[in-house]
Amino acid sequence: MSARVFVCASCGRAVFPRRLLCPDCGGREFRDEQVETATLEDFSDRGQVKLGAVRAPSGPLLIARVEGDPRRGGEVSLDEDGDVPVARA
Ligand SMILES: [Zn+2]
Repeated sequence: MSARVFVCASCGRAVFPRRLLCPDCGGREFRDEQVETATLEDFSDRGQVKLGAVRAPSGPLLIARVEGDPRRGGEVSLDEDGDVPVARA
């Protein structure tokens, strides 16, 4: 189980979501990087769904659906539901 971030083939900058151009060097080629765990920086509970801001080790911040019993600053495991990152606390 993992989610993807996108790494610039020219300079190595990791971004999420995928960009048309690298924000650092303007490169257009990206490769997928699989991320299995990340840090839950913050989340909101809207009743039906929890949404969280999840920091990948390589830097980018992912907006993810959060499942389980999250706590701020905790480690989560990542998966994907289609293109949507899912963080499991
Ligand atoms: Zn770049």
